Amino acid sequence: MTHNLQQRDKEVIWHPFTPLLQGLPVLPVKRASGAYLYLENGQQVLDAISSWWVNLHGHAHPHIAEAVAGQARELEHVIFAGFTHEPAVRLAERLLSILPAGQSKVFYSDNGSTAVEVAIKMALQYWYNKEVKRTKIIALEGAYHGDTFGAMSVGDRNSFVKPFAPFLFDVEFIPLPDTDNFQLVRDRFRDLIAGGEVAAFIFEPLVQGSAGMRMYPAELLDALLEIAKEQQVICIADEVMTGFGRTGKLFATSGLRHTPDIFCLSKGLTGGTLPLGVTTCTAQIQEAFRDPDIMKTFFHGHSFTANPLSCAAANASMDLLLSDDCQEQIAAISYQHSLFVERMKDHPKIEQVRSTGTIMALDIRTGEETSYFNSRRNSFYEYFLERNILLRPLGNTLYILPPYVVTSEELDGIYVEIEKLLEQL
Ligand SMILES: *Cc1c(COP(=O)(O)O)cnc(C)c1O
Repeated sequence: MTHNLQQRDKEVIWHPFTPLLQGLPVLPVKRASGAYLYLENGQQVLDAISSWWVNLHGHAHPHIAEAVAGQARELEHVIFAGFTHEPAVRLAERLLSILPAGQSKVFYSDNGSTAVEVAIKMALQYWYNKEVKRTKIIALEGAYHGDTFGAMSVGDRNSFVKPFAPFLFDVEFIPLPDTDNFQLVRDRFRDLIAGGEVAAFIFEPLVQGSAGMRMYPAELLDALLEIAKEQQVICIADEVMTGFGRTGKLFATSGLRHTPDIFCLSKGLTGGTLPLGVTTCTAQIQEAFRDPDIMKTFFHGHSFTANPLSCAAANASMDLLLSDDCQEQIAAISYQHSLFVERMKDHPKIEQVRSTGTIMALDIRTGEETSYFNSRRNSFYEYFLERNILLRPLGNTLYILPPYVVTSEELDGIYVEIEKLLEQL
């Protein structure tokens, strides 16, 4: 059976981020429940990366499943221009109430990349509508904001985007700030902004996901935001990965002194059940679009904008996220990670180990450069799969980004297998 499905898949399917030759075999999944995937071959695999960072409360959660099923019987979809519905309005109200202060409008789309596209277009049109020539965007080296052209443009110019490099618009990149380089980064940032043409600054707050779970301190981000805000540069927080508790707080930017002007959300938004993207903005930004001149309208939209099933899933996921149980789980995972980091920080086989909230990462010393194309990646991936754990290393960077239902015993089990792997190297 397994072989049959793999064979049929191979004939017709093109998988994401997967070489068509020399790819590892794809594994048919029959069902999933809690933190586990149940494969057709009988294997039960712990989903320690939340199925590409989307799942919050475990798979096939009954509360979310009920909400989606109920919604499907009432209203599965409706055009969102000229019409509205309860799940979308309720979700928007709730998002605005938990996001850092100052957000006032919610724009729906389908995924993280579109949430970013909307944010970039909103920021650029804001200045266009105000008839101020500000057209530059600043981003961080190593950034990942998605795979569409705008999102690629503000992302790191790494080998993934090489074929498209000539088609990407110009962006100014500054290094990821750390305590050593901060003076330099801050001066460069100031100089760029002083030119007067910077429209927006986009960043993944506290953790750069695809770059290898690279982490940086909240104080340094806050200091950059302060400079940007002084010069009215629009600050775009891409919280597609970090949102909804991943960093220990509801949002990575919760608690900063300077709050972003625009937020991008997706991934955990529906608890990982259905695709949905959200871009929110402040009253000041929408003001530039509120104009008798129809040409100042934001002419952007997707067929499935604010899909009611997705909104229902997101509302159900938020019920769970805001519960005491879930908040305690987030705190417990964060604490357990921090103990493991402390224990491993001088390990000779590790270059660096770190955690921010529920995200823990370590770079294994392999004698090669730390990079996505590190040759050991596939062997690490297979090592954990053989032990019934799904980790998908970014090159030689191993990370755990679990659904919040993971137990402390299960986390310990993963730590033990990591330590055994290090011993073998
Ligand atoms: C995954 C991700 C995106 C892109 O989201 P998709 O839903 O995959 O298009 C954008 N920004 C960040 C920070 C991400 O981690």
